[in-house]
Amino acid sequence: IRPAHCPPDVEILGRATWTFLHTTAAYYPENPTPAHRTSMLSLLKSLPLLYPCVHCAAHLGENMKENPPKVGNRFELSKWLCERHNDVNVRLGKEKFDCAKVDERWRDGPPDGSCD
Ligand code: FAD
Repeated sequence: IRPAHCPPDVEILGRATWTFLHTTAAYYPENPTPAHRTSMLSLLKSLPLLYPCVHCAAHLGENMKENPPKVGNRFELSKWLCERHNDVNVRLGKEKFDCAKVDERWRDGPPDGSCD
């Protein structure tokens, strides 16, 4: 196990980035203003250039050419992001996440209240 004070490796960075992106999508407005849309598009489009894992960034850039970001509302964005994360999961041989559960995972918590 890597000590917590070490610089992030691909996995730690990935987990932190997905946490930020999915949570931001979970709280994105139902009716975004043009400024929300433009900012979200800039954030997402900057990743293939700036994400500090070169091969991850390259894969994401190729993927986003075929699947341009959907920033029309919270539901659309959360689903788009879930699908992009699933593309990475599949490429890494991991299980796909059920995108119907994205709000439960990233915003509401499970119905049993265990995260309240
Ligand atoms: P993670 O995949 O980090 O997921 C964290 C949590 O998110 C999971 O525990 C689960 O609860 C939830 N989750 C899982 N799938 C979804 C989904 N589809 N939608 C919503 N929530 C979900 N690693 C590489 O080795 N090669 C790469 O090319 C690569 N590309 C990446 C590209 C990007 C843009 C990012 C952000 C990360 C990338 N990573 C890559 C890192 C990789 O995706 C994982 O973050 C890392 O392997 C740690 O995986 P994990 O199993 O801990 O869970």
